[in-house]
Amino acid sequence: MAQPSNQSAFTNALTQLRNAAKIAGIDPNTLKQLERHDRIVEVALPIRRTSGPNQGRVEVFTGFRAQHSNARGPYKGGIRYHQNVSLDEVKALSLWMSLKTAVANIPLGGGKGGVIVNPKTLDPAELEALSRAYTRAIAPIIGPDKDVPAPDVNTNPAIMAWIRDEYEKVTGGPAPAVITGKPVEAGGSEGRDVATSEGAYYVWEYAATRLGLKPAETRVAIIGFGNAGFYLAKRMHESGYKVVSVSDSRGAIIDMGGLDPDKVMEHKQAGGSVLGYNGLPDKTLADQLALEIELLAPAALENQINTDNADSIKAKVIIELANGPTTPEADTILDKKNVLVIPDILANAGGVTTSYFEWLQNKKSEHWTRQDVFTKLKTAMDQASSAVWKIADDKKVSLRKAAGVVAVQRLAEAIKGRV
Ligand code: GLU
Repeated sequence: MAQPSNQSAFTNALTQLRNAAKIAGIDPNTLKQLERHDRIVEVALPIRRTSGPNQGRVEVFTGFRAQHSNARGPYKGGIRYHQNVSLDEVKALSLWMSLKTAVANIPLGGGKGGVIVNPKTLDPAELEALSRAYTRAIAPIIGPDKDVPAPDVNTNPAIMAWIRDEYEKVTGGPAPAVITGKPVEAGGSEGRDVATSEGAYYVWEYAATRLGLKPAETRVAIIGFGNAGFYLAKRMHESGYKVVSVSDSRGAIIDMGGLDPDKVMEHKQAGGSVLGYNGLPDKTLADQLALEIELLAPAALENQINTDNADSIKAKVIIELANGPTTPEADTILDKKNVLVIPDILANAGGVTTSYFEWLQNKKSEHWTRQDVFTKLKTAMDQASSAVWKIADDKKVSLRKAAGVVAVQRLAEAIKGRV
């Protein structure tokens, strides 16, 4: 797969913020406040290696937590484990979280954390030690009413359970609401595992109704086969869509007759990649982008759709499950080509919205059914879609700009009177 362009994600996020603020007529001082983070910390994470060439030695990893804004509620956002995590990236991702929680209209702010590590290079004991070290390092600045982390790229419910446990050891009492995305048996919410794609599916349904696109006529390609990409593929397949291509960091597979996502996942789990599934030839991201399809769903990392490839895209609609997959320059190209982009801060907001439901259940000592969670999620996603599409119609702007307008208006209201 081609290397994503390495332009600054934070610069891209700022461009999107400023574009939206301009359309919304936000005053320059308020915008200045929104351009800055409340707090950013970098932490050193020493762990003793129990495997690999450094076995027995202490190795120090680097972690970050960026808290962008708590004007609308406690900071909220995931923790990413990836070798390319950087300060720039967590700054961008936390700003996007502030915008996303505002679009979803949940009473939470924006934060994001990350550790520079390829988790595949750690054994399970090291992964646990690193997660616990990270928790101890950020414990003073997180908490159920301060900053509530969650999963993101390469982190999962088991890691969330370690983080909850370590936080409770440090602070000396139960605090299930300190983190979301926990396993259901450790205080997690039903449905949180699939919530990002379930929410995206509702956002897509809203758009599909507007666009008059029927499942049987809609061919889908998905970039990335992690949590969000896999469950979206599965959800679309089960709803009668033809999923014709999926990919992972090693490459893509294409079958215009349609793929069965569960079978592709079985193949990936056995061999580490989607490549080679059913004897299909190895393809690239470029091949996926050039497909004659109706819907393209980037569900991996930032900047994958950029000036190098935007022009080759033939899909009618792009739905962003990843955060920041499209650069602002690529957006301009797509706009000219009349490709409709359903932006990340709307399309993938189902994850954090269900995190909010988990946090609420923890605070009230309640346990909601999966059906309850999805009913509430559908209402929230429909309301967010309708607010965004309304601005897009009224102001004749892209959905990205419209979502930004909804977010900055709500944030500006919230920071009124703050000095
Ligand atoms: N990491 C997810 C996101 O980017 C979820 C965040 C959360 O649940 O707090 O939206």
